[in-house]
Amino acid sequence: MTSLTRLSCVSCGAAFPATEPRTECGACGSLVEVLHDLASFGRSGEEWRALFDSRRSALPGAATPAFQRSGVWRYRELVFPDLPEGEIVSKPEGNTNLYPGRELGRRLGLSRLFVKHEGENPTLSFKDRGMTVGVSWARHLGMRDVACASTGDTSAALASYAAEVPGMRGIVLLPEEKITGEQLSQALHHGALTLGLDTDFDGCMRIVADLARTRPVYLLNSKNPVRIEGQKTIAWEAIHDLGWEVPDWFVVPVGNAGNVSAIGKGLREWLELGIVGKKPRLAGIQAEAADPFYQSYATGFARRVTRVAGETAASAIRIGAPVSHPKAEREVKLFDGVVGRVTEAELLDAAALANRHGLAICPNSAVALAGAAKLRREGVIRPDDLVVVVATAHALKFSGSANRYHAGGAAFSNPPRSLPATLEAVVGALEAG
Ligand SMILES: *Cc1c(COP(=O)(O)O)cnc(C)c1O
Ligand SMILES: [Zn+2]
Repeated sequence: MTSLTRLSCVSCGAAFPATEPRTECGACGSLVEVLHDLASFGRSGEEWRALFDSRRSALPGAATPAFQRSGVWRYRELVFPDLPEGEIVSKPEGNTNLYPGRELGRRLGLSRLFVKHEGENPTLSFKDRGMTVGVSWARHLGMRDVACASTGDTSAALASYAAEVPGMRGIVLLPEEKITGEQLSQALHHGALTLGLDTDFDGCMRIVADLARTRPVYLLNSKNPVRIEGQKTIAWEAIHDLGWEVPDWFVVPVGNAGNVSAIGKGLREWLELGIVGKKPRLAGIQAEAADPFYQSYATGFARRVTRVAGETAASAIRIGAPVSHPKAEREVKLFDGVVGRVTEAELLDAAALANRHGLAICPNSAVALAGAAKLRREGVIRPDDLVVVVATAHALKFSGSANRYHAGGAAFSNPPRSLPATLEAVVGALEAG
């Protein structure tokens, strides 16, 4: 099979075969990206759209290989053309709902708000889109041990996908006490070797990167550019959901900055292939407690800021040294992007408000939602802009912060009430409102 794929350094341009299990440049140590020779397919934008429409309208039954029903592999020629179809590990993933904001949008002043709910993936976060590609490629390369550092969702996805491959071992490094119980249970349940370290995410990330440099262990953090290839389908699927209308904005929460990089890369590729003709803008949003990318942006990217990330309910983005910063900076600049940050109160209230309107999104997703509302108030987003907020995980992975919020004292708290087991007490509670 001829290879359409190579790895390329984002700093010095050095090229490496995609079959090397590498996640950094061998010449300068910088990040690498996956580049495919997509033009070699010779299809027009219209032909690509027709192909993707036909796959979407004829979803095959459950007895067919799962990848044929995947919202990632629907775009497979553009995701990873070098991967033989028979080796794809898919659950399937993607095909998440794009919810119209309706009343929630009106409350936030966004008349054309949509929420792409990536919490509807198999392990309840968008990480599945990258992990299906990462674990498939690991299997193709014959890697037995796959590892990541995680704020909880990458480890859940890695554990769950590795569990589908006989002989593959998932290894996850977690910052002790800094991920949710639900997330931890996923790694344990799916049989990953689960190592809690007395440090933060950034500390785990340094150690796992060293581990992958020195042992035959395949790194499956988003530093691995193969993961990015799956995650770029979030933007593609949202545009497809909109009947090929390109939104004015994609708004995403930023932690390690892989996802905002992925969305930018996907958009660039579709623009180059003529599948879309309009450039959306990008907004990356952080929590104040973990805002290094925001601070870098605030210097006009003159400096790359890192910090010690503080406590936040948005624990999945509690990261002080975003590994994908160089890629994310490039995409923000290319897509006329902005970077914002929100307070704990803003993100918690936004999570409550979204859930109150029936959207089960997590605090990290709510960072993006609160950020979109803030950009609207500041006049950066206009009232009738078509805005896609990427909700990155499901509310149920973060029940602790939700229950604490609703215990009382906050803008939308809905505290549970304890009553004696009598009809009178229940009727009394109803009448009291
Ligand atoms: C991983 C994650 C993020 C951040 O994505 P990055 O690629 O690290 O910027 C945001 N929200 C949730 C729920 C996540 O799991
Ligand atoms: Zn290099």
